[in-house]
Amino acid sequence: MPLNAETIRDAPKVLLHDHLDGGLRPATVIELAAEGGYGALPSTDAAELGHWFLAASHSGSLVRYLEGFGHTVAVMQTADALVRVASECAQDLAADGVVYAEVRFAPELHVEQGLALDAVVEAVLEGFRVGTALAAEQGRRIRVGCLLTAMRHAARSREIADLAVRYRDVGVCGFDIAGAEAGFPPTRHLDAFEYLRQQNAHFTIHAGEAFGLPSIWEALQWCGADRLGHGVRIVDDITIGEDGSAKLGLLAAYVRDMRIPLEMCPTSNVHTGAAASLAEHPIGLLRRLRFRVTVNTDNRLMSDVSMTSEMTALADTFGYDWSDLQWFTVNAMKSAFLGFDERLALINDVIKPGYAALQA
Ligand SMILES: [Zn+2]
Repeated sequence: MPLNAETIRDAPKVLLHDHLDGGLRPATVIELAAEGGYGALPSTDAAELGHWFLAASHSGSLVRYLEGFGHTVAVMQTADALVRVASECAQDLAADGVVYAEVRFAPELHVEQGLALDAVVEAVLEGFRVGTALAAEQGRRIRVGCLLTAMRHAARSREIADLAVRYRDVGVCGFDIAGAEAGFPPTRHLDAFEYLRQQNAHFTIHAGEAFGLPSIWEALQWCGADRLGHGVRIVDDITIGEDGSAKLGLLAAYVRDMRIPLEMCPTSNVHTGAAASLAEHPIGLLRRLRFRVTVNTDNRLMSDVSMTSEMTALADTFGYDWSDLQWFTVNAMKSAFLGFDERLALINDVIKPGYAALQA
């Protein structure tokens, strides 16, 4: 099978880094705004609003980029709205050929109208259940877990970590911190990470996106992160010689030796300026050096991407073939916050047969 958007959509894909408040359907944002009396949207036409989000993410201004989240978070303040957004997320990912996803959101951002943190989590989990069931009726099997995010500039991480542990058996598979990296090192939240480690819980940390190596080093060696959100700046610890050979510094070597998963989101990185272009994105080098690279969407609405479009763009840019896409997918499945036997079952029963059929 040739690689194109249509055939890649049929390929089983695994997504580890996707923000719930960054992946709404434009039409849903408009409907929820109308229901909730939110009047600040830049447009009430779905196509126009979609373009507005994309333009904001391209603007080169972080303030304008974050303005987009102001709108989506504003319409996600009731249990009904959260159920709907989560359900549509599961359905959209399933329709895109995603077979396993971990979707993250920050409960503390959804309490403006009085919802308790527990109620926020329960609504999102209910939405994933509904969406997964609806997708199954369409013949699309997907499993969706969720990661609870704490905002790195705020002071609720310990509380959110507790929430992640309490809901671990009913759909929450891990924890994350997100938000501006500069000035807010992950070590500010050490108590949360220590608690999670004591509880044998999993967590990832947004690190090395805009900010460099110190952020990655702290996330791994002080906080004990299982995975790195983005981690693109690890290339700053790799020197390429004139003959093309690569020399890894101690931190880069640690990341590769320990098979630390990198949740890479190429298009999103280009939009926020963390990479100049897709062609110059460090994913090309890191894949070549066999780091544990995974491919992700980050914010499907803001960047107008899907797992299919992201994989298609990478295949076009770097000449990847089916075996490369399978490699990214197996990497992601191996790195999931899911039991070993279940990961193995998805790799052997779903992913490998899926790619074998496409390559046959
Ligand atoms: Zn992210």
